Amino acid sequence: MVIHLLKKQLRNILEQNDPDTAVFEANQLLQWATGLDRSALMLETEIDDTAAEKAVNAARRRVKGEPLQYIVGEWEFFRLPFKVGEGVLIPRPETETLVELALERLPENGVLVDLCSGSGCIPIAAAKNSNVLCYGVEISEAATAYFKENISLNGVQNTVFPMQGDVLEPTEELFSALPEKCDIITANPPYLTAEEMENLQREVRHEPDTALFGGRDGLDFYRVIFGKWKKLLKSGGSFIVEIGEEQSQDVQAFMEREGFSCEIFKDLNGAKRVAVGKLL
Ligand code: GLN
Repeated sequence: MVIHLLKKQLRNILEQNDPDTAVFEANQLLQWATGLDRSALMLETEIDDTAAEKAVNAARRRVKGEPLQYIVGEWEFFRLPFKVGEGVLIPRPETETLVELALERLPENGVLVDLCSGSGCIPIAAAKNSNVLCYGVEISEAATAYFKENISLNGVQNTVFPMQGDVLEPTEELFSALPEKCDIITANPPYLTAEEMENLQREVRHEPDTALFGGRDGLDFYRVIFGKWKKLLKSGGSFIVEIGEEQSQDVQAFMEREGFSCEIFKDLNGAKRVAVGKLL
């Protein structure tokens, strides 16, 4: 099929979803269906029928609300590739702010423990950009499978170690599989409220509830994790968590109650997005 006709067809389909992103998404789907990158595609005039059909079918799925990231199966975070699909949260650019704050605070040869790891984007990005050892705890089997795949994809088998476990009810067995002390604990826990869950964007409804829903007021994880996990932190170490825009005051109070001093940081959109608690 002639490439410019195919592009036009894809754009026409994708515009039904969102005219502003149709061109970008058409290009993404075309790259995915052909296996060619942007510059290679520019040199092509024809696309074979199988690849063309694959791209058109994908565009139809996209218009029905499936996230683009799940369709193409891979997404970038911190300039690194991550496999994603049903059952795992898609890494968000906001979370890069958290990774940067962690990297600034990690000592040479330090240890980082990440809670609610999902795809593993936080510990993998941290390990790729420093010389620390990273441990990640994730409860879901489906997400842990992606986490392991992403460790291989990024070649960090010697520095990132995935564990399955419940961060709200950590067992002695889980603690004994982790280092006795670490420098940084990170977490991007589920933090949406019951009301926000009712009004989710169509795409986000495809992502797992367990990665999104933080209890009625969205704060269930923050209420528990600082108290249950601080014994792992060296004194002077930091607990770094992503938060919802309206949650900074509550999270600060939970941190202070457990003996942390708390500082709030904004993401690139100017929303309060990360709380850093330093253990005094
Ligand atoms: N830590 C993962 C991320 O930031 C998953 C978070 C989650 O599932 N709530 O994408």
